Amino acid sequence: MTSLTAVPAYAAPAPKAPLERTTIERRPVGEHDILIDIKFSGICHSDIHQAREGWGDAIFPMVPGHEIAGVVAEVGAGVTRYAVGDRVGVGCFVDSCRHCEYCEQGLEQYCVEGMVATYNGRDKNGDPTYGGYSTHLVVDEGYAVRIPDGLALDVAAPLLCAGITTYSPLRHWNAGPGKRVAVVGLGGLGHMAVKLAHAMGAEVTVLSQSLRKKDDGLRLGADRYYATADESTFTELRGQFDLIVSTVSAPLPIDAYLGLLKVDGAFVNVGAPEEPNSVNMFSLIQGRKTLAGSAIGGIPQTQEMLDFCAEHGIGAEIELIRADEINDAYERVVGSDVRYRFVIDTATI
Ligand SMILES: [Zn+2]
Ligand SMILES: [Zn+2]
Repeated sequence: MTSLTAVPAYAAPAPKAPLERTTIERRPVGEHDILIDIKFSGICHSDIHQAREGWGDAIFPMVPGHEIAGVVAEVGAGVTRYAVGDRVGVGCFVDSCRHCEYCEQGLEQYCVEGMVATYNGRDKNGDPTYGGYSTHLVVDEGYAVRIPDGLALDVAAPLLCAGITTYSPLRHWNAGPGKRVAVVGLGGLGHMAVKLAHAMGAEVTVLSQSLRKKDDGLRLGADRYYATADESTFTELRGQFDLIVSTVSAPLPIDAYLGLLKVDGAFVNVGAPEEPNSVNMFSLIQGRKTLAGSAIGGIPQTQEMLDFCAEHGIGAEIELIRADEINDAYERVVGSDVRYRFVIDTATI
């Protein structure tokens, strides 16, 4: 594509409005760009937060989607990493400043000037970005990753957000053999955390509100499964974990969870409660504990995660849907009624 091209997409025309089929314009394929024929696009809970302006002012019309898997259909003259026919993915961002200390370390998600979000963002020309609920995407080759042949594109799509969001803290806090890891919540993020931590060799415990999904949790790789609604869980598991990864966006009794950590243990949030939370500093001081957060992952680590998943045969557990089912899927995600990720077959857009 050498000129702007109109492509089909599903968009929210206004905050809280249902998504509907429309057309959007993708930029011409520049010297370092690739054109991706999108095959599958995951539905992340953050798509819904943003389409409903739950996280503040947003840009409309909005084409959500930052779990994108597809095939390269065209490359710019200066592209060196990809060729037509390559299987590629795009996650939560499509550009960054490229020269700050974090971009230089491959931590583009923490770019000092701010990463350019895949949708609900603005590119360097000030134009709005549109996400993966669409048939095509033009992106700089430096912001795409390769999807290994061993990984089917539909189950790979959610790895671009849910996968890397959980992989990154598991690696940073050294999940592996001899380590006890707890995963709070068994949803889109949590089910990936369980699979990944298990594949890394850690002993994995799920902490979920109830035992409703216990069979799934054990099948996905958890060694143990406890209900947090049962107060005895917090006494039974006291002082046991090296790392707790919380994937829930509901407010949690942080002090109770910190009590489950060993000395030097870390409690890491990847889910984001909307309201501030309080913590008693004694919960950290007693045991030299860490309360932390982590956001997605940079391009190099996202590639590492995909390679790891291919090596271990890990994909997301998905429900494949047609584009005209997106609005129903949103309601089901809000009601925690999905096992464990909706993925849109973009051929139906
Ligand atoms: Zn996401
Ligand atoms: Zn930067």
